[in-house]
Amino acid sequence: MDDAEPDREDLVPVRDDFVAMSGYHSAQVDVDVRLNTNESPFPPPSSWLEELREGLDSIAWNRYPDRAATELRAAIAAFHGVDPRHVFAANGSNEVIQTLLLAYAGPRRTVLVFEPTYQLHAHIARITGATVQAVARADDFTLDPAAAGDAVGRFDPDVTFLCSPNNPTGMVEPPEVLDAVVARSRGLVVVDEAYAEFSNWTAIDRVADDSRVVVVRTFSKTWSMAGTRLGYAIAPSWVVEQIDKVVLPYHLDSAKQLAGRLALRHTSEMERRVSSLVEERGRIVAALADLGLEVYPSGANFVLFRVADDARVVWQRLVDDGVLIRDCSGWDRLDGCLRVTVGRPAENDRFLAAMTVALSTAVPT
Ligand SMILES: *Cc1c(COP(=O)(O)O)cnc(C)c1O
Repeated sequence: MDDAEPDREDLVPVRDDFVAMSGYHSAQVDVDVRLNTNESPFPPPSSWLEELREGLDSIAWNRYPDRAATELRAAIAAFHGVDPRHVFAANGSNEVIQTLLLAYAGPRRTVLVFEPTYQLHAHIARITGATVQAVARADDFTLDPAAAGDAVGRFDPDVTFLCSPNNPTGMVEPPEVLDAVVARSRGLVVVDEAYAEFSNWTAIDRVADDSRVVVVRTFSKTWSMAGTRLGYAIAPSWVVEQIDKVVLPYHLDSAKQLAGRLALRHTSEMERRVSSLVEERGRIVAALADLGLEVYPSGANFVLFRVADDARVVWQRLVDDGVLIRDCSGWDRLDGCLRVTVGRPAENDRFLAAMTVALSTAVPT
């Protein structure tokens, strides 16, 4: 063998448009207090787990799952008061988004995003071969309805993404923005509502067969089920028909269909978890503001804030103190920004105490 290792990546070149692409990264560091990925700090109700254990016994494991996930779709439809023909479910809302983009984006098509926003919208769109147009939000991360409408007019996108509340800013998109985007759109308008239950507005009542609005939801956050990988869309029935063709057959396994169906029987526990997190969110926002930091208004289960010091150093000090949050300071337009997920009261106390210590010795930027 030669002393130089062969460059194995050259054996079979990847698609040309993948060469410069990097994957999705989020640090998974082993610390006491993990407030970095917007998961729920609470497990799902123990009664749900009991029902799931029992239900697993009656699954016919030698058979393929119900391909149409009929009962799960019916349960989701009932929860939202819509017809099951408007419901599509998949392995996390990321797979919902991927399926929508496979059907409506792809080569020679355009996807519009308003940044900063959830990076996976653009990332998955590019993987389908679509062209992504990114329009900048205002300095305070709001989106002017007229500017949003103009961007749609300029790029004529096949798919436009809104995210409400927006990740990573936490800000709720006003309905006027959706109106302005829809008014100018020829393509689909997808509203990612991964955090909608933490806010006071949803676009679900805008979904109809004579509308282009699609709302995407997930069990990962409010339902305390990030480990389940289950998400869904509420969409016009003609969209559901198309994405049903695109998704792999039997993509939702029997256990997951059951887990989701049973979760929807525990709505009041979900609402209790949400209101306790909303209350804690208020406490975190107030405490960070008291520390003199710039804090963005949040309608989600996380808070984005900006430190005057070197954000990377602050982040590392928190990690050294056993608290992991998200360092967003390297992202476009988010210099100095960190994002904390709302945890249990004791975890939030740990975070706030660690922040106070981390900021007490000034770090030059
Ligand atoms: C967390 C999050 C999701 C969730 O994705 P899943 O695949 O359902 O876990 C989707 N959209 C946004 C904006 C998120 O922050």
